[in-house]
Amino acid sequence: MKDDTTMARIKRTPAEWQKELVRQDEIDRYLIDGKDFIDDDAIESSLRENASATPERIRSIISKAYDIKLMDSRDVAALVSVGDPALREEVFAAAKKIKKQVYDNRVVTFAPLYCGSKCVNACKYCGFRCDNGSIDRRVLSMDEVEEEARVLAGKIGHKRLVIVFGEHPDTDADYIAECMRRIYSIKMKVRNGVGEIRRVNVNAAPMRIEDLKKLHDAGIGTFQVFQETYHKKTYRAVHPAGTLKGNYPWRLYALHRAMDAGVDDVAVGALFGLYDWKFEVMGLVEHARDLERRFGLGPHTVSVPRLEPAADTDFSWITHWVSDDDFRYLVACLRLAIPYSGLIVTNREKPEMIRSLSDIITQRDADSRVGIGAYAEAFNAHDQTETNQQFMLGDTRSLDEIVRELASLGHIVSFCTAGYRCGRTGKIIMDALSGGQEGCFCKLNAVLTFQEWLEDFGSPETKKIGDEIIDREMKEIRARVPADFSEAMWDHLEKARNRILSGERDIYF
Ligand code: SAM
Ligand code: SF4
Repeated sequence: MKDDTTMARIKRTPAEWQKELVRQDEIDRYLIDGKDFIDDDAIESSLRENASATPERIRSIISKAYDIKLMDSRDVAALVSVGDPALREEVFAAAKKIKKQVYDNRVVTFAPLYCGSKCVNACKYCGFRCDNGSIDRRVLSMDEVEEEARVLAGKIGHKRLVIVFGEHPDTDADYIAECMRRIYSIKMKVRNGVGEIRRVNVNAAPMRIEDLKKLHDAGIGTFQVFQETYHKKTYRAVHPAGTLKGNYPWRLYALHRAMDAGVDDVAVGALFGLYDWKFEVMGLVEHARDLERRFGLGPHTVSVPRLEPAADTDFSWITHWVSDDDFRYLVACLRLAIPYSGLIVTNREKPEMIRSLSDIITQRDADSRVGIGAYAEAFNAHDQTETNQQFMLGDTRSLDEIVRELASLGHIVSFCTAGYRCGRTGKIIMDALSGGQEGCFCKLNAVLTFQEWLEDFGSPETKKIGDEIIDREMKEIRARVPADFSEAMWDHLEKARNRILSGERDIYF
C-alpha cells in the first residue's frame, strides 16, 4: 500500500515538478547587491595579476597555510599558477604536513550507492542525461535499496554511504528520506559483530529548504552538491537553458539552503575538465568563503571528480582535460587553500593516482559500483556495464584490498562516525579541527573502529597488517600521555580495544 506522499510523487509529471521546485526567493536572499559570489572577471584578472609570483611569495603563502585558515584569493591565484616542478614539490610537501596536522594519518572509506538513473537534465558530460537512449533507466524500490545496503554493510563492511540520484520526481526528497530511513534500519549479524550503516551522506540535486529539512529529519550526514563548473559561460554551455540544472544560482546556493535547513555538514565540488582547473580551484575557495561569511562555517568536505568516459557520450568538445600532474597539484593546492576541510578523491581515478595522494586526502571510496542495483547483481564479479552507470570507474578493487594497501602505507583506516552521532558536526567540528583538538577524539575512535572492522571483515592478510599498524598507533598514543591524552583516556582506550577484541561493538569517545 503506497502512502499519500508516494502517490502524489508518482502523479506529478517532470514538467509540473520542475515548475514547483525552484523558489526564486531562496536564491535572492543570499545575493549581495543582487550579485552572487562568483565574479568571473575578477577571478580571471586575479589569475593574470598573480601569475608570476616569486618563489619567496609562494613560500610565504605556504607558511601562512599552517594557520589552518581559508586562503586569501590572491594567494590562491598565485599558488595555482606555480609551474616550476621543484616549487610544486614544496607545495606538495606542505600539503602532506597540513593533512597530518589536521587529520593525522587517517583515511576514511565509504561507498556510493546509486538509487536512481532517471534524470530530467541534459548535462552534456553525463551518461544519465535525459536524451541518452543507451541507459537502462531504473529507480530502486525500498526493498532493492535495502538489498544493496545489506551487501555494503554485511558483506563488504562499509559504515558510511553516499547515496546518489539523478534529478527526477521519482527520486525527490521524500524518496531520498525514505531511502535513508531504510538504510539506517539495517542491522545484520556478521562474522564477530554487527553490520550496519552509521552515516548516510547524500549527493543529489539542489532542493528547497522545506525539502532539505526532510533530509535533516531523516538523519543526513553530509549534503553534497558539486557546482561542476564555477565559470558561468561554460556552465551555460554544458547545462542547457530551460533545464533545472541550467539554473546556475539555484545550484550555487544549494548548500546555503541546506545550512538554513539545519544540515551543517555540506560538501562542495567541481567536475575537473569542463573549464580551466585554476579557475575552478578559485571558485571552490570563493564558495567556502561565502559559506564562512554567511554561516561562520566552511564546507565539511571538498570533492574533486575528474571527467571520465560515459556511455554514448561525446567528449570531443572538451578542451580543458586536466593532466595527471596538474590534477595532483590542484589537490595539493586545495589542501593548503581550504585546510580545515576533508578532501575526497574517488574511484573515478586509477589506483596509482589515489595512492600518490593518500597522504593529502582524507576520504576515498572503496569497492564501489556506480550502476543501479549493481552491488546485489555484480558483487564479486568486478565488472562494469556501460549501460547502467553514469561513468566508468578507474579503481574497482575490493575494500579489503584497499584497506590493506592503505594500512601498508601507514594509514589508519577510520570507520568512525562518532562525531556525527555525538553532535560533533558543523562549527563544533570545524573549530576543533582548526585548533587541532578533534584529532584527539578522532585518533582514538579511528583505532577502535579500525580494530572492529578488522575483526568483522578483514582477510587474515589484511588483519595482520592492520593489527601491526594499530599496535604502532597505540604506542604513539601512549607516548603522548599526558601531554596530549590523559591517563584516563589511555586507560579507556586500552579497555575499549580489549572489549572489541572480545566481541563488543560500536564503542566510541
Ligand atoms: N544528479 C545530481 C547532480 O547532478 O547534482 C546528483 C549527482 S550526479 C549523479 C554526481 C556527480 O557525478 C555530478 O555532480 C558530477 O560532478 C559527476 N559526474 C557526472 N558525469 C560525470 C563523468 N562523465 N565523469 C565523472 N564525473 C561525472
Ligand atoms: Fe542528471 Fe546529475 Fe547526470 Fe546531470 S550530472 S544528467 S543532473 S545525473
